[in-house]
Amino acid sequence: MNKIEHIGIAVKNLEESNKLFSKLFGKPHYKTEEVDSEGVNTSFFKVGENKVELLEATKPDSPIAKFIEKKGEGIHHIAFDVTDIEAEITRLKDEGFIILNETPKKGADNKLVAFLHPKSTNGVLIELCQEIKE
Ligand code: ZN
Repeated sequence: MNKIEHIGIAVKNLEESNKLFSKLFGKPHYKTEEVDSEGVNTSFFKVGENKVELLEATKPDSPIAKFIEKKGEGIHHIAFDVTDIEAEITRLKDEGFIILNETPKKGADNKLVAFLHPKSTNGVLIELCQEIKE
């Protein structure tokens, strides 16, 4: 794994949270993107070398809606940048981690993504992401 790519924060209302985090960081988000397959609306802030992703549910059965129902708003996942997501999935599987989607899927921000089940990582949802090169 190369570096922390972003930290994902689950929020109830993206518009309100965009205002709040703009105040916090002293600059606005640089993009918003809906990921239909995950049932989320996202926005991204650049903070130095890292990013913060805000996630709002767009439907009741979205993973974000379920997360907020159980735990309330807050840190949802930590995403790590990887060079070769397929190789990393194989390596982590061999190490005994539970991969939620063994076939990487298209996530927000032009990334291929895969998630590790929090029960295999001390309760932290880990996202692997690899930049899609056009
Ligand atoms: Zn993410």
